[in-house]
Amino acid sequence: MTVITPSKPKVMVDSTDRLRQPFKIPFASRANGSEKRACARMRNYDESSVNITKEDIEDEGVDGYGALVKRKKVGALNPRQVLKAQDQTEAAFRKAFKVPFIKKPIDTGITPPPPLGTRRRPILPPRALHDPTNEFAIVLYDPTVDVIPLDKSEEELNAEADQSKQDEESKKELTPPKRSAHRSLAEILGICKNPEETFNKFPDVPVVIDPKLAKILRPHQVAGVKFLYRCSAGLVDSKAKGCIMADEMGLGKTLQCIALMWTLLKQSPRGKRTIEKCIIVCPSSLVRNWANEIIKWLGEGVLTPLAVDGKNVKSSDLGQALSQWSVATGRNIVRPVLIISYETLRRNVDRLAGTEVGLMLADEGHRLKNGDSLTFTALNALRCERRVILSGTPIQNDLSEYFSLLNFANPGYLGTRNDFRKNFENPILRGRDADATDKEREKGDAKLTEMSQLVSKFIIRRTNDILSKYLPVKYEHVVFVGLSPMQHSLYNHFITSPEIRKLLKGVGSQPLKAIGMLKKLCNHPDLLNLPDDIEGCEDLIPEDYQSSCGNSGGRNREIQTWYSGKFLVLTRFLHKIRTETDDKIVLISNYTQTLDLIEKQCRYNKYGCLRLDGTMNINKRQKLVDKFNDPESPEFIFLLSSKAGGCGINLIGANRLVLIDPDWNPAADQQALARVWRDGQKKDCFIYRFISKGTIEEKIFQRQSMKLQLSSCVVDEKEDVERLFSADLLRKLFEFQPDVLCDTHDTYSCKRCTEKGQHIKAPAMLYGDATTWNHLNNSALAKTEDILLRNEAEFDDVSFAFQYISH
Ligand SMILES: [Zn+2]
Repeated sequence: MTVITPSKPKVMVDSTDRLRQPFKIPFASRANGSEKRACARMRNYDESSVNITKEDIEDEGVDGYGALVKRKKVGALNPRQVLKAQDQTEAAFRKAFKVPFIKKPIDTGITPPPPLGTRRRPILPPRALHDPTNEFAIVLYDPTVDVIPLDKSEEELNAEADQSKQDEESKKELTPPKRSAHRSLAEILGICKNPEETFNKFPDVPVVIDPKLAKILRPHQVAGVKFLYRCSAGLVDSKAKGCIMADEMGLGKTLQCIALMWTLLKQSPRGKRTIEKCIIVCPSSLVRNWANEIIKWLGEGVLTPLAVDGKNVKSSDLGQALSQWSVATGRNIVRPVLIISYETLRRNVDRLAGTEVGLMLADEGHRLKNGDSLTFTALNALRCERRVILSGTPIQNDLSEYFSLLNFANPGYLGTRNDFRKNFENPILRGRDADATDKEREKGDAKLTEMSQLVSKFIIRRTNDILSKYLPVKYEHVVFVGLSPMQHSLYNHFITSPEIRKLLKGVGSQPLKAIGMLKKLCNHPDLLNLPDDIEGCEDLIPEDYQSSCGNSGGRNREIQTWYSGKFLVLTRFLHKIRTETDDKIVLISNYTQTLDLIEKQCRYNKYGCLRLDGTMNINKRQKLVDKFNDPESPEFIFLLSSKAGGCGINLIGANRLVLIDPDWNPAADQQALARVWRDGQKKDCFIYRFISKGTIEEKIFQRQSMKLQLSSCVVDEKEDVERLFSADLLRKLFEFQPDVLCDTHDTYSCKRCTEKGQHIKAPAMLYGDATTWNHLNNSALAKTEDILLRNEAEFDDVSFAFQYISH
């Protein structure tokens, strides 16, 4: 017996070669009756030379010998049976085969037409998401009133389009269109060929704020959202869709921006959403805060943001998340809002390159005031047209900072930096100069007006005053406190020391250290390490003085408050609050040592007090704040370090607040003040800013006021800027004027005050300008509204006070 082993089919390496060979007709061999077993095996395609196409795959129904291979194809039709007709086709099949696919493009990109029977999506006219006729509806865009301005190039384009249309029409008139014999199928079925065009013929629809937000927005917030919407929709200028939201702290900038974002994500005049994605950039400490605010206002699960603060995340995970966010489009966008810190964004900006971002909100946007910084460059590189800068203190004192901010919001709107310098900055500065001629001054004013008109379209700035409708009265005081005799002599000794003299001559190199020492001394001598810190001061220290530094004398020892003017006043304040009111008070200092001292003193007096440190985690902070705000809690003092940060801290349980020492940055102080006088406050508020009179603190305060004045000058269009400081700042800082009642008031050359005191009450108080406030000398304190300051008239520690009354 012989075993017939069928010879192995030749392995074909290249299917192109195989196909070029004369073709064996599959059914011819079947006709011979020699059945081949279907063998499923892998073919070794050389992928580099073969493009597998549809035809190729279909060809797999035939094996190397031309035998029909029965292979189950899921969902495919059964192979069609070829019955007869072999004779006619045989010749054709035996011809050398030309490979059909070799020159065909692999993917034409044309999607096949929908199979017959599939229903086309009907074209629905756009409609408003929320009912614009509702009683409480707030309409941001009304198609019957608002017109999106076209810029010139577009107008020209339109004119051209009109012209060509007219030409076509006239041609049509000349040669009547040939009637085709048959109507097309599409016509018969009413299918439109160009759905986009049909859709565009529908009129615009109103854009309405989501009713759940409309319910909670205050009137000024509605105005703010309208402003933001008009800018970002191009209703102000179609070329500039950015703007600056510069409302003061406490007016709800966050809520206004969330309302804008939510509207753009859901609506547009064409019905569909305006934007797909939004980026919120903010300091890393505020990332969580933003995420919480979104949930707070829109509700749980409505809009889940992707919050990235760069902490506790592996950089690879972070990168992946950002890349995913970046590539997602259309329905794949699950988290349309990315909240990210400036630093993280700067490091990962490459991953977001190329992504179309509909809206960017830059919180604490004054970080962008330097147009050359890495942050600015990175953010500016994002593909984003609608840019909103949020800033409580938009412009410090520099027109070029101002330019940078606007240039970020609306790139190129003011021209290049050099254009701006030439056109506006130089003439304005020249006009302000002390020795400017009248003509230069005139020109400067004109330029300032011109610039204001140009940019005021994109800036919204409201002060806290508009809150007065909802809030109780705020009495804000700048309290000038004298030094104690011990502080006085130490201060004098220090600034006349050889060390400081050297410093002023420019020999010493540590002015900051000396400034810090003086600031601490103004709070309490205990903050210094005496006698080591001040050389040769041993004789000036009273015999009974005992520093509470280093915990000498035990935990519950009394602090020697009488060695500090501020502490004397503060002790009387706390005593009066405790015995005569049920008020609560917040005490803020730049120095934790000051807080240590107060804490000790509270312990000694058995006053309940809470303290928030910068190191505390957010949960713990919140618990502490909630505890304090509870009216039932016995703690009536809240100690807060100004370095603790955390803008969201809301301390409305208290209606009194003392800033124990001034900060260089007026924004920091403003932020602190806003913790108490804000939404939800029910009692009249009393704010005190302690300044040690005649000392370095007063100079810092004067500098602050100047900064505020300069910023309000550009934003609020106030033009008179007095130069309160000359260039030799340092020498001035170390001057000591212990004998004047209030040096700051003396610089005002005030016409409302005489030797005896203020005889004309302030007619209209401007918050940023203390010259317009009430000026109270020590005896005038007796008549003030506040029981704590009234009490101070009996003592002479407070020499002077400025008083601002909100309304
Ligand atoms: Zn005055």
